[in-house]
Amino acid sequence: MNPEKRIIISIKFLVIALLSAVLTSGCSQPDSEKAFLIPVEIAIDENNENEALTEQATPIASPTAIPTPTITPTPTEIPIPTISIGYMGFSGERPTGLVISECSPLTIYDKDVEGVQEHIDRYDEMCRAAESEGVIFEVRSAFRNYYDQLDYYTSDRFGPSVASHPDESMHVAGMAIDLTANSKIWTHEIVGCYDEEANNFTYLQEPIDHLAYAVKVRNEEVSDLCQQSVTVVPIKRSMLFGLTPGCTVLTEPEWWGDPEVIECSSATLKPNGMIREDWHFENADLISAFIVK
Ligand SMILES: [Zn+2]
Repeated sequence: MNPEKRIIISIKFLVIALLSAVLTSGCSQPDSEKAFLIPVEIAIDENNENEALTEQATPIASPTAIPTPTITPTPTEIPIPTISIGYMGFSGERPTGLVISECSPLTIYDKDVEGVQEHIDRYDEMCRAAESEGVIFEVRSAFRNYYDQLDYYTSDRFGPSVASHPDESMHVAGMAIDLTANSKIWTHEIVGCYDEEANNFTYLQEPIDHLAYAVKVRNEEVSDLCQQSVTVVPIKRSMLFGLTPGCTVLTEPEWWGDPEVIECSSATLKPNGMIREDWHFENADLISAFIVK
């Protein structure tokens, strides 16, 4: 090895030695510097130790928006008086099983006054209410069996303008009753008005005889009557018992405020060609209306 090479090698060693010295010195700090990094101990006042600890321990939570529950006062239940009214055709399933009326057990022909329970219940309630006002009901006909009804329907005496086909007859369903004329005034009297849009029922100041009511409508003396509007129905007393007179086709009623419908005379025809029957009362669908004073 010549002296030149030796010098170069020596320089290389020197450089390596210097570099390693610089690099290692970055990792280890001299003691004099370490002294500055010793954490300063927190001076804790003995008396306030708990407070200081608490302060330390409490993490500073970012404020969460807790919704304040709104206290709404419980609404006081004010009972709203309602009333059941029936003036539309019965649309439910036809019930079965016959019972006999307690208020008037026999027809004027000494036959049982029979019907299904929910019809006889309504009838008996109406019958008792009439009785308490001195009106005694007389029943001409109630439940009729299929073949009796078929006889009526096909007979020359009655026929299809008077008697329904047995499949359509509410008598066959045990949900219709025919009364004699002595209770006609009581059952047909107009007692109130039902507003279909507002679902409100208002009693008239005084009940009005249905024939007198029809005369007033014809003469346009309507101030004491129900509002003459197609959505307002004059209510006959029997309708308050869920029993509707056969004055119109109940599945598609004409306007009940029409004087011809109010009169319910058998001299006029319903749109289906059958005569109006002021003696016939059948179960209707019940509507629960609010009573307005
Ligand atoms: Zn009838």
